[in-house]
Amino acid sequence: MNSIPVIIFLGAPGAGKGTQAAYLSKLKSIPKISTGDMLRSAVQEDSPLGRKVQEIMKGGGLVDDQTMLNLILERIKKPDCKGGFILDGYPRNLKQAAQLEEMLPKDMRLIVINIQVSEEEVVKRIAGRRSCPKCGSVYNIYFHPPKDDEKCDLDGTPLVRRADDSEDVVRKRISTYKKETLPLIDFYKKKGVLTAINGIHQENVVADKIEEVMN
Ligand code: ADP
Repeated sequence: MNSIPVIIFLGAPGAGKGTQAAYLSKLKSIPKISTGDMLRSAVQEDSPLGRKVQEIMKGGGLVDDQTMLNLILERIKKPDCKGGFILDGYPRNLKQAAQLEEMLPKDMRLIVINIQVSEEEVVKRIAGRRSCPKCGSVYNIYFHPPKDDEKCDLDGTPLVRRADDSEDVVRKRISTYKKETLPLIDFYKKKGVLTAINGIHQENVVADKIEEVMN
């Protein structure tokens, strides 16, 4: 039976993949696996992985495919992934997509959601993006500000800006996205598993559309 959902979020940096993946994770009670978050934690912990990837991330490039494969393999082996999972930030190029296919359970249903947002919009969004280093909640000081200055609504921790959210690095991340990740849209379209969602609307509107797709 093709019943275990594996949901992949595609979209430019700042398109809202992480936000929507978090919504869907709660809704479906399946884990969200965000490679960006995993790598940022490794950097914060100053682990060997963190030290290896820090400079690459700061420059807006991609971490090598083998490192990413090991990271994902280890994560999806965990028992909480048995009933399905959501991928945010993986795969990010054709090689990773091929490697993912090899490791996915055979009895799964693949759903790929491409969140479409213009380049101009993503640059604006990222300029205002702040996150809570403690609980991971994401805010935007222009569009979705925290109630109290730059502190997390949930736990009061001062919000931080991601090290790779400066304008020049954002431009580099967008160019990496266009070169490496955009080809995945065709790849999954050909497989008949791709759904495009307009990501320009408010978060809850986008979330409703994704829920429709899932049903
Ligand atoms: P974005 O908001 O740009 O989509 P992410 O939080 O997903 O950012 O990822 C941040 C950085 O982590 C990327 O710019 C890249 O350096 C690294 N990274 C995350 N996922 C991958 C991956 N699947 N392959 C290679 N590098 C990755």
